[in-house]
Amino acid sequence: MEKISRTKIVDLLKREDFGTMVNVKGWVRTRRGSKQVNFIALNDGSTINNVQVVVDLSNFDEEMLKLITTGACISVNGLMVESVGSGQKVELQAKEIEVLGACDNTYPLQKKGHSLEFLREIAHLRPRTNTFGAVFRIRHNMAMAIHQFFHQRGFVYFHTPIITASDCEGAGQMFQVTTKNLYDLKKDENGAIIYDDDFFGKQASLTVSGQLEGELAATALGAIYTFGPTFRAENSNTPRHLAEFWMVEPEVAFNDIIDNMDLAEDFIKFCVQWALDNCMDDIKFLNDMFDKELIERLQSVVKEDFIRLPYTEGIQILEKAVLDGHKFEFPIYWGVDLASEHERYLVENHFKRPVILTDYPKEIKAFYMKQNEDGKTVRAMDVLFPKIGEIIGGSEREADYDKLATRIQEMDIPMKDMWWYLDTRRFGTCPHSGFGLGFERLLLFVTGMANIRDVIPFPRTPRNAEF
Ligand code: ATP
Ligand code: MN
Repeated sequence: MEKISRTKIVDLLKREDFGTMVNVKGWVRTRRGSKQVNFIALNDGSTINNVQVVVDLSNFDEEMLKLITTGACISVNGLMVESVGSGQKVELQAKEIEVLGACDNTYPLQKKGHSLEFLREIAHLRPRTNTFGAVFRIRHNMAMAIHQFFHQRGFVYFHTPIITASDCEGAGQMFQVTTKNLYDLKKDENGAIIYDDDFFGKQASLTVSGQLEGELAATALGAIYTFGPTFRAENSNTPRHLAEFWMVEPEVAFNDIIDNMDLAEDFIKFCVQWALDNCMDDIKFLNDMFDKELIERLQSVVKEDFIRLPYTEGIQILEKAVLDGHKFEFPIYWGVDLASEHERYLVENHFKRPVILTDYPKEIKAFYMKQNEDGKTVRAMDVLFPKIGEIIGGSEREADYDKLATRIQEMDIPMKDMWWYLDTRRFGTCPHSGFGLGFERLLLFVTGMANIRDVIPFPRTPRNAEF
């Protein structure tokens, strides 16, 4: 076969220099036609769109043609011609075909229309489907949008550790990291495990958040963000929770809670606009296949101001909804940690746009949040989104050493693990704020997918770590 450098299908479909010989390589999606002419729909992952390859059967070896089945990988040298019937401007008239990899009929993606549940069982092959090709291209684009947003604004991308020895936040929901022999654990006279001879000389875990280290960086570099994997061993089998997910955590010195809300709103809008500007082919596909209101929802989020509302007022609205006959599964009262159904009621039924809920009861929030004068609430802010509920959780941080230390003691957090964190408040403390955005929650919103397992390539959830 003549050596011609490869053209990606995404580029080919934009070209108009008909009559040129080009080479494409990709995987056969379908093959149909008559005894004389066949039409191969070829996809190389560069776009949701296939290029149609027209094959005059009389020009090719019969044995080779037999190998061109759904799933096979082929390389085609062909003439670019204007297309009338393929749905694209361009198609290829095949001159030479080489089968790079045959694919027998045990290939599970023979026909279209597999359920998302079935595709999760073949997560190693699902990137070959239109749906997951679209999702993973969007995932990439959202990662780029995130870096773009912060880089443009002078934030430093700061890498926080994945292995941590401070269990201040996630006690109980952390995965342990050890090199000890679990069948032969050394214990003290009280039955507690001795970690002195473990790899780190103390109990270590996978991080649940990069925030505490992020604060160290923000109080030196001014504005930072982290973007990395985070782990939570929470045994919640919901469509919104993963055991391994990616979190984006900006932290900014001198920002108060209002600045923090402004940043969160600008940030999400930037990412959604980026998706609309850069991923429209994929979004259109997902809109038509799964969620007819997706594009409309994305456009409206970019346009509208988010509602900003104190928790206490949110509770009043929900209590009124109950009085008016709305049924929630979980009870509603001041002090409750809102369930997703409550968050979604505020967003979808009451305000019909994203809501930033602020000033939560201190009992349901983390120790580091800035305490309000009322003694009951803290300067927390959760961003609540349609279809998802909480997409961002953040706060202004407690900058006062004494208040923070008191709160740490009240909440029984081991002080000995926190000395380095408290040093930020001892040495030139400053007001600062930050938040965490669950990357996959953002992707749920942008793709319109309903289950978080379908926006990460290889989901880790309770009892599931295949692939
Ligand atoms: P939720 O109440 O939904 O369980 P959270 O309050 O525990 O979330 P935070 O600790 O505030 O979550 O984490 C910040 C963000 O990380 C959340 O707003 C959410 O977008 C995301 N997030 C939290 N837990 C998970 C998870 N298990 N899987 C995927 N994303 C998550
Ligand atoms: Mn939260």
